[in-house]
Formats: sequence, C-alpha cells, structure tokens
Amino acid sequence: MIPIFKALDIIKSQVQILSTEEIDLTEVCGRVLAQEIFADTDLPPFDRSQMDGFAVKTEDTRTVPVKLKIIGESAAGKGFNGKIKRGEVVRIMTGARLPKGANAVQKVELTEENEGCVTILESVKENQNLIKRAEEIWEGERIFELGEIVSENMIAPLAAFGYANVKVFQKPKVLILATGSEIVDVNQKPKQDQIRNSNSITLKVLAEKCGAKVQVLPSVKDDFENLKMQIAGAVELKFKSQIPNPKVLNPKSKVPNEQSKILNPKSKILIISGGVSVGDYDFTKPALRELGAEVFFEKVSLRPGKPTVFAKLNDTLIFGLPGNPVSVAVTFHLFVRKAILQMQGAKTSQPQKGFAVLQQKIKGAKERDSFLPAFVETNEQGKLIIESLRFSGSSNFIAYSRANALVFVPKGEILETGEVAEIVFL
Ligand code: AMP
Ligand code: MG
Repeated sequence: MIPIFKALDIIKSQVQILSTEEIDLTEVCGRVLAQEIFADTDLPPFDRSQMDGFAVKTEDTRTVPVKLKIIGESAAGKGFNGKIKRGEVVRIMTGARLPKGANAVQKVELTEENEGCVTILESVKENQNLIKRAEEIWEGERIFELGEIVSENMIAPLAAFGYANVKVFQKPKVLILATGSEIVDVNQKPKQDQIRNSNSITLKVLAEKCGAKVQVLPSVKDDFENLKMQIAGAVELKFKSQIPNPKVLNPKSKVPNEQSKILNPKSKILIISGGVSVGDYDFTKPALRELGAEVFFEKVSLRPGKPTVFAKLNDTLIFGLPGNPVSVAVTFHLFVRKAILQMQGAKTSQPQKGFAVLQQKIKGAKERDSFLPAFVETNEQGKLIIESLRFSGSSNFIAYSRANALVFVPKGEILETGEVAEIVFL
C-alpha cells in the first residue's frame, strides 16, 4: 500500500503532455494555454474619461461655482482633437479620450449648462474621473502564462488584445469502461441482482469538466476473457499477436526524462470502474497483467479508494477505480483529474485545497488516510465550517450528492470539534 502523495508522484512521472492546436477564441474556455498572452497596446491607450461630464483644467475650478466655455465634444470613438485653454471645457462621454490641455473630468451631475457655457459646481482634483493611459497594463506586458486554464473572466483580455485564435494543448482522449455483471444501462429497469450503471456517466461528466474528450465504451460483465478483449480494444492492442510478456516493475525505470514527457499525440487515458478488489470476480488487475500492462500501483493508503490501480499499456494510462460510486468520485478527484490536467500541460494544483473548522468530531481510518465527503459553508463570523459530514460508506452516493468538499483525516487520527481540518474543494 503506497501513500497518496507517492501515487500522485507516480502518476505525474507517467503523464505525457499532448501536442498543441490553435482554436477559435469562442471555444477556448476551460482549455489550457499553450502560449503566453501579451498586451499589444497600452490599456487604456489614452487618458480615458470614467464619466459623462466636462473635461476641465483643474486650476479653473479652484473657486466654484465657475462658468466656463464649452468649445467642443469628445465622444467614445470620436475624440476632440483641439486643445483646451484657460476658461474652456469640452463635453466628454464615458470611455472618450481626454482632450489635450485638460487634466480632469467633472461629472455632469455637478454642473449646470446654459447657452454654450457650463457652470462647474464643485472643484475638481487632478486626474479626477480619469483612467490614465496604461494604468491597467502596458503594451508588451504579459497577462497570462503558459499552462493557465482559461476561465470566463479571461475572455475579455484575450479578445481585447486581438487573440481571435488561441494556441492551447489538445484535449486528452478519455475512454470509460464500466465492469460488473450486475450493471445495466441507465435507461433499463434493473431486474433482480442488477443495478443501473451510474459510474460511466459520472466519469464522463467529471472528465469532460476538466477538458477531456470522452468516449464511453459498452460496459462489460465480470468475464475475464471478454474484459481482456475490451481493454485490448480500448488501448488499440492487436489482440494476441501484439500482447507483450508481462513486465516486471522496476521503479527506477519508470521516470521518463523531460524530453519524452512532451508532445505524445498517442497518449490517452482509460478509466475502468469496478473489479479491482479481491473478490472472485474482480478481474481488472489479472486482465491488465495478462495483457502485459505495467502496473505501477494497486493499493493506496486511502479511504475510500484503497484498491485503486494505475497502469500503462500501449501509450494508454489506465486507472482502475473501485466500483462504489463514492470511491469512483473521490479517486477521480484525487488522481484522474490530475492526470487529465497534466496531459494538457496545466500548471494549476487541482484539486484546490483549503482549511475549514470541524463542527463535529471525525475519526480517521486506522491504516489509511481518509478523504471524507462533506458540506462546507461560511458562517456569520466569516469562517469556513464543515457543516456536516456526509460519509456513511462508499456506496452512499445519495449522501455524497450534496458534498462540496472532501475532508482529509490522516490515518489513525481523531479530529475534534472546533479543529481546523484540511479540505479539498470538489
Ligand atoms: P466492485 O468494485 O466491482 O467490487 O464494485 C463495488 C460496488 O460498486 C458494488 O456494489 C457494485 O455493484 C458497485 N458498482 C460497480 N460498478 C458500478 C457502476 N458502474 N455503477 C454503479 N455502481 C457500481
Ligand atoms: Mg464488480
């Protein structure tokens, strides 16, 4: 049994970053930047008015009220090209360029206009109601880095600086294969001994959310030969003739150098749910071994999710997740999500960690670290609290459905009410 951090290191050492592609800006949300993003102009490109009002010389407004002459207009898209002299103002709109000679704007609400003149009712300070040229960013400054995941908020800068097309890392291909003689499709009524396959759809949604291109494969029964064939098909192994001899794990040979980590367009992920424990019909591990997969780990010090398997076969990274829906979700969040993001060259440290105060005591598992589903929220004192723990076993996906975090409980520990616990946000 290996610790969680070790499992994460092994996954990281096996992930190969995909190639890049150029896509339309409208498609870029959620994708990982494969280029740095720079400002191609100062922003604003000129001293810009923040108000509708009058561009003035502040020295004209030291004593108020003061009557000044309106000599023209500066609108957004059509600025005033002359120069303001003492005693003069220019009518100005929000977003418009400040005319030469002016050094502030008085808003229209603090003025009174009549017959080509305006009375300024309140004094104005230098730069008042202005955004100075390049106050937001200088031309040539870097805005976003390689490896950042594009969020909705990043679209405006990308558009403003002319990135109609953006270079991003390709979407990883993720195949999903549910196993179990008991599972039937969601659109079927389960007969005796059967349950609906909720894992495939959950995994599809989760994987797509972190940028993967997903293909759900038809689920397979607990039948060794058939499972082997499905896995071989998924990893595009030519069945029988191409099956290599089972490899013996040599941990030292597993760390590829940086060169080989990048740009492998064939690299993909297969997620298998179910059949990874020690039951008589748990065939995932024997099938992987017989196909010649390198199995990097098969037991993690984690509750829920102990029998998680990580292997590689024919350029495909394979995750074997325990079939209980909560285990599937937790192990996806901790392990698979990382791999999908790393394949896209993402620099973020997902899942996002945090700290919250326990409202009730929790006991960890004796020999494993626990990541227990919970609901967290802020209280009136502004503290993030763990409102209720929703872990009543890894099969209880009804309770899990309202969880928004996982609480970390180190093995063998009891965390008391009021203690601060480490969490990861879901
Ligand atoms: P296993 O990991 O195959 O031993 O399965 C553990 C538990 O998860 C069993 O109760 C299974 O019935 C359940 N399970 C396995 N696969 C699925 C699935 N695709 N959807 C929902 N539950 C599943
Ligand atoms: Mg099973």
